[in-house]
Amino acid sequence: MAALCENLGVNEAGHLTFAGQDTAELAKQYATPLYLLDEDRIRKNCRAYTEAFRAYFPAGSRVLYAAKANAFAEIFRIVQQEGLGADVVSCGEIYTAKKAGFDLSNAYFHSNNKTDEDIRFATENGVGCFVAESEEEILAIAQAAAARGIRQKVMLRITPGIDPHTYEAISTGKVDSKFGVAIETGQADAVTALALAQQQLELVGFHCHVGSQVFDEDVFERTAVVMLEFLASFRDHYGYTAKELNLGGGYGVRYLPDDPSYSLSEKLRQLSAVIGKTCEKLAYPQPAILMEPGRSIVADAGLTLYTVGTVKRIAGYKNYVSVDGGMTDNPRFALYGAIHEVVSASDALAPRTFRCDVVGRCCESGDVIRTDVLLPETVQRGDLLAACTTGAYNYSMASNYNRVPRPPIVMLSGGKSRVAVRRETLEDLVQYDL
Ligand SMILES: *Cc1c(COP(=O)(O)O)cnc(C)c1O
Repeated sequence: MAALCENLGVNEAGHLTFAGQDTAELAKQYATPLYLLDEDRIRKNCRAYTEAFRAYFPAGSRVLYAAKANAFAEIFRIVQQEGLGADVVSCGEIYTAKKAGFDLSNAYFHSNNKTDEDIRFATENGVGCFVAESEEEILAIAQAAAARGIRQKVMLRITPGIDPHTYEAISTGKVDSKFGVAIETGQADAVTALALAQQQLELVGFHCHVGSQVFDEDVFERTAVVMLEFLASFRDHYGYTAKELNLGGGYGVRYLPDDPSYSLSEKLRQLSAVIGKTCEKLAYPQPAILMEPGRSIVADAGLTLYTVGTVKRIAGYKNYVSVDGGMTDNPRFALYGAIHEVVSASDALAPRTFRCDVVGRCCESGDVIRTDVLLPETVQRGDLLAACTTGAYNYSMASNYNRVPRPPIVMLSGGKSRVAVRRETLEDLVQYDL
């Protein structure tokens, strides 16, 4: 198990352990379905970024946690303690961060469509920087800043025209993307010129995000070169020099034991070397570098526990194991075929010979956690299963479909556990119904 992530193990009882704790004990204490989050691992992941940033990137460079990966109060406190800023995408995330005591001047506000209300709310609450993507938005932010008598920092999101060869649904940097303005079409130039013309806006630099789950050696390097060439060409035409270059999020995480591993520190060192060399060639002063990891901060800090309800053997066809959660707590398979390792948590040492689809309890055939799972032959009602690497895009994408209450998030740290988000009740489900 440790082959997937070092926070997984098995104890003498044959129970899966997570962050050094017995998952069967945790299931007994908190019930299932249950999200577990390994706080120590989150902090370790944050430090891998902050230490490499300190070592390799110029002063003013910073790491922003992409809150959409998993957003709730405690996570904002943790990443703030670790010295990260945040990338937020909605009033809901801004409000959550604020309630958690997060300093919103360290927040960057994304989204390809910020409403007038979003913009008002964000300026009122002192969000540090907007990442703008369109002419409409630049004018709306300038107007909101004028109404408050402030000068608002903005960055512009550019599509560098890079295809990182990951899933279509999570690839965002191509010219025809829904996000950003393209360099290739000249729109990036026009939008930048418009932003510079606004008295109420301070353009601090440029942003791009080419996709998620990126493993390829040189995707960030190629992206940085394209962006720096754009910055230099823009400077040559308009005389504007950017202070910040935000390269987005997206470093990959290992969902399966066969997925490649890499050294983040080494990747960032190489990236910094490419940036240094490119700036020198272009005679461009090195901008501060920002990155927005989400998944690589929280994914491998997460584990979801389920209890088996039924085992259905269809002789000559296939087998199903149904659990007490499903697409309501983890829609990633249904949404884009994402795969999580699924193992028995109550019998983690037994030979895995029973091939089955592990499915949820919702009224949808597509409600699948994973197909082609190997479990112990003896799997039966009451056994515990674990889906691994569920710290990102599980809780934050969870729903109440079929009026299923969302599971709690229990934080694990230093051998202790505590509830960070409580389990929803049936009463919670009807609270908006009049
Ligand atoms: C989704 C997203 C991120 C985070 O991506 P991860 O794959 O979770 O690291 C960062 N920046 C932007 C703009 C995003 O859309």
